[in-house]
Amino acid sequence: MNDAVSITRDLVRCPSVTPADAGALGVLENLLKAAGFEVHRVTFGEPGTADIDNLYARIGDSAPHISFAGHTDVVPAGDEAAWSHGAFSGEVRDGFLYGRGAVDMKGGIACSLAAVLQYLADHGGKPKGSISFLITGDEEDISVNGTIKLLQWVAARGEKLDHCVLGEPSNVEVLGDCIKVGRRGSQSGTLVVDGVQGHVAYPHRAANPVPDISRLIVALSEEPLDHGSAQFQASNLEFTSVDVGNTASNVIPAQARAKFNIRFNDNHNHETLRALVDERLAKACGNRIRARIDWQPSNSNVFVTKPGAFTDLAVSAIEEVTGRKPELSTSGGTSDARFISSYCPVIEFGLVGQTMHQVDERTPVSDLEKLTKIYRGVLDRYFA
Ligand SMILES: [Zn+2]
Repeated sequence: MNDAVSITRDLVRCPSVTPADAGALGVLENLLKAAGFEVHRVTFGEPGTADIDNLYARIGDSAPHISFAGHTDVVPAGDEAAWSHGAFSGEVRDGFLYGRGAVDMKGGIACSLAAVLQYLADHGGKPKGSISFLITGDEEDISVNGTIKLLQWVAARGEKLDHCVLGEPSNVEVLGDCIKVGRRGSQSGTLVVDGVQGHVAYPHRAANPVPDISRLIVALSEEPLDHGSAQFQASNLEFTSVDVGNTASNVIPAQARAKFNIRFNDNHNHETLRALVDERLAKACGNRIRARIDWQPSNSNVFVTKPGAFTDLAVSAIEEVTGRKPELSTSGGTSDARFISSYCPVIEFGLVGQTMHQVDERTPVSDLEKLTKIYRGVLDRYFA
């Protein structure tokens, strides 16, 4: 069956806890091939990581090209005995479909596929431009053998995405309340302060890094990084731990360290942000304190899809089905949209996120039906 509920159920029945595929991509491959898509299954790996299955499927060879992106991997079920209905049963009870991945995000993928199949059936099996699916099995864990590599693979084939809809559970309370159009970037680091080890009774022969790291923490925390931007709240630097590791009470330690994370908006990128914080640190250290920041590598840059024709057509499709005008939000954690945004404008719109990653993850069947109608509305407007 090609409806969203059946496809969601078939996907949920594959226990595809990262990095396992457990047949999930095969469910999509069969439906896509039957509808005339050219389907590629691509496996990526690198030393020290598990090989991951991914899927790219396209129909049509002209522009405009809209892509539906998503992930079929899920987080573990947790205590399976605590579930009201089997964690991988896909059972429908009292109007809800239960199972790990129902909202995050097998349900979202199923709705987009059901909408595309309907659209093709109503248009002689061909879109006016191109439609593709960009589906990974590596989102919930380290996200290195998934979307980031699949996008490179697609680009190397000379294919260009014009717009992308990522079906992550973007809504907060009810279907239609929120489209995610961007995310803050993330950058972690460790502040390292060097002193000179010595006996507490002879402090003049030592240099204590503990008071110094305290001063630097205060200095770096207190000065705002910015005051927000048109679409984002202010960036924030947050210290998360202070570590001296000293077990003796009569020894001045040689070094103190403090970890922090910065969530930053579109006033910065990784390079300018690091330079700004390094400069503030140098100022706070003066000529006396010896300190540095060890910056961690990060692939989580800030991105935003500006309001325009693409967001407008999504808003209009959502309003038509739900009667709600969604907020264009940049809040929340990271997703694969951060990778897609380097290739084309991307919006995230899917189911309601309330039960994701919980026991009894579930979605109202009526939301699956409405989300399918919304995606269909997006396609109708996109190719109008
Ligand atoms: Zn997800």
